[in-house]
Amino acid sequence: MHLSPVGTSRRCFLASLALCALVLLLIPTLQTQPRQGKLPQPLPRGRSSSCEGANNAIGLSVTGLPTVDAKFQGVQGDAHFSVSGSRSREALELKDIFIAVKTTRKYHKSRLQLLFQTWVSKAKEQTFIFTDGEDKELRQKAGGNVINTNCSAAHTRQALCCKMSVEYDKFIESQKKWFCHVDDDNYVILPSLQRLLSSYSHTQDVYLGRPSLDHPIEAAERVKSDGSTSVKFWFATGGAGFCISRGLALKMSPWASLGNFITTAEKIRLPDDCTIGYIIEALLEVSLTHTHLFHSHLENLQRMPADDILNQVTLSYGGFENRRNVVPIAGMFSLAEDPSRFKTVHCLLYPETDWCPRNIHH
Ligand code: UDP
Ligand code: MN
Repeated sequence: MHLSPVGTSRRCFLASLALCALVLLLIPTLQTQPRQGKLPQPLPRGRSSSCEGANNAIGLSVTGLPTVDAKFQGVQGDAHFSVSGSRSREALELKDIFIAVKTTRKYHKSRLQLLFQTWVSKAKEQTFIFTDGEDKELRQKAGGNVINTNCSAAHTRQALCCKMSVEYDKFIESQKKWFCHVDDDNYVILPSLQRLLSSYSHTQDVYLGRPSLDHPIEAAERVKSDGSTSVKFWFATGGAGFCISRGLALKMSPWASLGNFITTAEKIRLPDDCTIGYIIEALLEVSLTHTHLFHSHLENLQRMPADDILNQVTLSYGGFENRRNVVPIAGMFSLAEDPSRFKTVHCLLYPETDWCPRNIHH
């Protein structure tokens, strides 16, 4: 076919127009690196909240649970509890999540045993216990999933950062998609965790957790500069648990891997969870996605609506004796039998468990 020069240039013009349109359409999907203040969007349904800076978080309407640090509730909305419509995407499996439990020798019996009896029994393969002393009994129960960090058993910044550093390295080694850290006084509601994480992509930069403060923390910048300037950043409180996508965790490597975490923490002189926040928010300029689904005993757990408890991602307990702070879930076990309420929660989630009272249906 003969092509006149005019026809060819017209076709070229139209083709380049189409190409431009295609490129424009593709730009948002190709952008994998969120800049500061930009939050990863849950996959199934967009969410418009941004947690950049203090003002935004404080200005949010509180629609969630009325607890002490209620300012952050409602940030996430309840989007991820209505995400079952996203069946077309490859589902995130529980085995894709690396769960690190921080503990110490003296809590193996009083705290860890309860976790093994409850939620850990449902996530044996992917739950790793980071402790500081050999324990034959624990080793028998959990084998290679117990990691003796050889870190000091003291409750000092150095000792806790030492454990976090080992947690990080083990996660990287594991090839799993998500890193979640919890304390040994947390109950992890596995179906909720899976649901929450499956609403994001592990290849995105995702840092999910609950701040314990209503403002960002300020620290002298001693990593990027000489400490004469300060940086402000949010961090997720370790006592409520937090999760990091593999994509983001890999980027943390220069400041977190192979002992670098301890160096970083020493430079800014802050605890382990703050150091995580510092690396992610201040150094990598990725924002914490504030969520109200993680809970520590720093908040008033009694005020959680009972019918919302099983939808949370983590729970905790504190102060059994004089100032009891546990989730208000009744029935099944008395407070004496189940002071933390973890057994009750577990039996509501998994009523078929052999030690759960029979004839309870929920
Ligand atoms: N922990 C530790 N070494 C210690 C004391 C505590 O690794 O010497 C761990 C403990 O197992 C838990 C976390 O640090 O996972 C927080 O400890 P705790 O709940 O006692 O303190 P809080 O929540 O009040 O900070
Ligand atoms: Mn605690």
